[in-house]
Amino acid sequence: MTNWYGWAGTILNVDLTNMKTSREPLTKEFATKYIGGGGFATRILYDEVGPEVDPLAPENIIIIGQGPLSGTVAPSGSRYDLISKSPLTGIYARSNGGGFFGPEMKYAGYDLIVIRGKAEKPVYLWINDEYAELKDASHLWGKDTWTTQRMIQDELRDPEVQVLKIGPSGENMGYSSCVIANLGRAAGRMSIGAVWGSKNLKAVAAKGNKWVSVARPKEFMELCQALIERAKGDPMYDIHTSYGTSAWVTYPDLAAEQKAKGQPREEHPLWYTNLDTLYDKNVACFGCALHCSHYYSVKSGKYKGTAGEGFENGPLARCRLVGVSDPAFVCEINNLCNQLGLNVQAPFYNIGWAMQLYQDGIITREDTDGLELIRGNEEIILQLVYKIAYREGFGALLDDSTRGAKMLGRGSDEYVSHHKGHTMGGTGGRLSDLRTTLNSAVATRASAGVQSQTRPDYRDQYPDEHLRKLGKERYDDPEVFFRQDSPDPKKALEVYENENTFALCDMTGTCHFASHQTLITEGVHDEDFAQLMSTATGVDFSIADLTRATERKNLLERSFNAREGIRRIDDYPYPFHYQLKYGKQHPRYDYSTFKFSMEDYDQVLDEYYRLRGCDQATGIPTREKLEAVGLKDVAEDLERRGILPR
Ligand code: SF4
Repeated sequence: MTNWYGWAGTILNVDLTNMKTSREPLTKEFATKYIGGGGFATRILYDEVGPEVDPLAPENIIIIGQGPLSGTVAPSGSRYDLISKSPLTGIYARSNGGGFFGPEMKYAGYDLIVIRGKAEKPVYLWINDEYAELKDASHLWGKDTWTTQRMIQDELRDPEVQVLKIGPSGENMGYSSCVIANLGRAAGRMSIGAVWGSKNLKAVAAKGNKWVSVARPKEFMELCQALIERAKGDPMYDIHTSYGTSAWVTYPDLAAEQKAKGQPREEHPLWYTNLDTLYDKNVACFGCALHCSHYYSVKSGKYKGTAGEGFENGPLARCRLVGVSDPAFVCEINNLCNQLGLNVQAPFYNIGWAMQLYQDGIITREDTDGLELIRGNEEIILQLVYKIAYREGFGALLDDSTRGAKMLGRGSDEYVSHHKGHTMGGTGGRLSDLRTTLNSAVATRASAGVQSQTRPDYRDQYPDEHLRKLGKERYDDPEVFFRQDSPDPKKALEVYENENTFALCDMTGTCHFASHQTLITEGVHDEDFAQLMSTATGVDFSIADLTRATERKNLLERSFNAREGIRRIDDYPYPFHYQLKYGKQHPRYDYSTFKFSMEDYDQVLDEYYRLRGCDQATGIPTREKLEAVGLKDVAEDLERRGILPR
């Protein structure tokens, strides 16, 4: 393929150890098999980073992947995938980010940036079309992300240069670290910021002056326009374009209480209305008609003057773990975390854990650098966020509560819950419904709601009759969304299908929120992706081709994790995982309150493995399935290592 459509056609290789960059052509075979973004990057990670590689060693790699729809007018084509081996969990790490960096990298002519080795001193990568250079970043080391971005743009004399960067947390190789685009577009999970820090990589700056060509422009444009128009008819559209993911917080936090009291859905409180005084303006990632983010400013009270970008449902939902419910505080902590390069959810999980230990007398001021860890004390929480970012004193323990508990001892591990080493905050375990629990527990990147999607009945915008219609259309079962606790095999099918659609978004470079797993009825469906991909790239993709590509990606992730020792026991929600591991119930959970039993869970997990083509006993992909999706070499690799199921 000499003319590339959709894809840019080039990989940028960066060798930090030898301070060199080189360009390499993409091949047609690789592009059509792995599609793009996370698909490309996962294959490269599998090939280059084995179980012998320490995530913080120079041998680990960082891959920034772009999809063929990124930088085009396809709905929400703004995303990039960041892939590595996670220092937090020691397994597959993927984080996805929005903003403007992804399309800019594409306009510079690259589908992939693969960063290897370790620089001797701090550097940043500057990409300007074909020109790519590693520049000294000693003067940037120690700076927060906002200052770093400004200094790089000043230095390059171009305020439109797009900059991915780490803050002090990543520099200190913190387990809560992340990578930030723009003011607050975080690739937040799995502590990939620490991998940047370990390599002395402060930032990647890009400016592109090319176009992304599409193969059939008229058809492609008409299709994109029709999809953007169609999305407006979705019941979720208005609320998502007004409040973004903040609107999702209503159901779990307040509406659930009302539901438990038997009140009808229409009366559930809309907590997001409190946000109207803070949100000044909607903000969109590149070319996104959903513009779901916001510029916010606090107009009164002790945080008056705080202004920034965001925030998502995560901090809104999690702030209650530390006893706070004031959205103005969420603005403050959101800014602070973005500047320090911290995953904004992590401090809530980890400080909430410490506050419970303090309340139960397991730790005292002697452990906490003299700080009194009382829930709701906002000043102390903000101080602790600094300590976490700089891994200073008690902050080193709080950076990751699973590790912190091991350091501390005293039974503090019983206050931590996790999936595959990724904390879920306190003794949370997602045992509220079977589908959401399965989604979170089987996620290859660990404890990740956004690897699949929360169920549609999670949203007040979809009334009961709508859900019945949807259940009938999708699963020939109008009641499927009303049986969240029963061991219905369709729960596994929902998760399998949702994972595939989200993988498709990640591979094409589009946003989950534009897909039909968020805009449930009128979002981009799999058949739309097939048309978008065909008209953009000029390669005819069927739905089956794309489904096979998503399966290939998931099986590569599962195989990567299998090499790292992940097995069936790691695909259980934490209380069950604990029970299987230690042969007794977890002392801090009341199992009688769970909505389903281990046997129920086993049934849907078995079905999930059947759909994925994984061995029931181990959860490892089978040879038959790997070969069916064109991964014979992976089957042979697993066999050589003695872990391929027989
Ligand atoms: S839907 Fe929101 S997060 Fe997704 S691309 Fe659009 S503005 Fe960004």
